[in-house]
Amino acid sequence: MLRIGSTTVEKVHEMDLNGMTLVQLMPDYSNTDFQNHPEWLTDGATDAGGHALLSLHTWLVRHRGLTILIDTGAGNDKRRPQQKVLDQLTNPFLERLSAAGVEPGDVDHILHTHIHSDHVGWNTRLANGEWVPTFPNAEVICSDLEWRYGSALTDGDEDAAAVRRREAGLGKPVRTPVSGTFLDSMRPLDGRVPIRRVHFDGSEVLPGIRFVPTAGHSIDHASIEIASDGEVALFSGDVFHHPLEIHVPELVSVFCEFPDAARRSRLSFMERAADSSAVVLTSHFPLSSAGRVGRTPSGFEWRFI
Ligand SMILES: [Zn+2]
Repeated sequence: MLRIGSTTVEKVHEMDLNGMTLVQLMPDYSNTDFQNHPEWLTDGATDAGGHALLSLHTWLVRHRGLTILIDTGAGNDKRRPQQKVLDQLTNPFLERLSAAGVEPGDVDHILHTHIHSDHVGWNTRLANGEWVPTFPNAEVICSDLEWRYGSALTDGDEDAAAVRRREAGLGKPVRTPVSGTFLDSMRPLDGRVPIRRVHFDGSEVLPGIRFVPTAGHSIDHASIEIASDGEVALFSGDVFHHPLEIHVPELVSVFCEFPDAARRSRLSFMERAADSSAVVLTSHFPLSSAGRVGRTPSGFEWRFI
């Protein structure tokens, strides 16, 4: 467990994601000069076969008496034919959450960095063939634009999706969110739990907690900043997937919808993280998944804590 001021942060592991090579994860990797920079590969984040070692987890935050989850992983039983690694999982995630002292009814708020299959899955669980909210007392806070975009794509309403893209102003995407995610993990919440769809303008959504706009990986991706007694925690979301992206920020993952915006957002995030000496809580780095971003003469570096 990490302490940031009077706030505690704990990782609840869901699964490892170790099947992809660095080139599969970041296609431009083959063009990088990593042979002359072995330090870019970061101990523990790559195996001898050139695979990225990745984690899938949720961050459990206890802050000012509130129990908060930052993203909710992939979830069980979800049909993901386009993403075999996440298809119909049976992980003991809720048991692990319980071992951390939290039952589903204890969660007060769920904050989403974005609406992708590996970040919203535990919002719902299968009960008698129906998707029902897993956390019955939690308010879900997410992007209004990303909700409306997911809804339009789910309904096959291309005109509405195009309007949302113009609203975002990020240009043409190279991919769209995995279909089925919005339908089984977001829409079933509607009318059953409080949903606060927000415009990310940097204002506080809860005391000491604000979304930091970092669009690009998804249409309205945001990182989350928690200030507590003079210290800062920054939850990156999918601003990066592997520490290599910090050392070589022009890289971009195959999962990013708007690559150019993703690169710009990564740079602004790293500047913010370095300037505030924040503890950075990532979504997919292995090991502790937590660390700090530091400046080097040529750019930035990552140090696990
Ligand atoms: Zn992700």
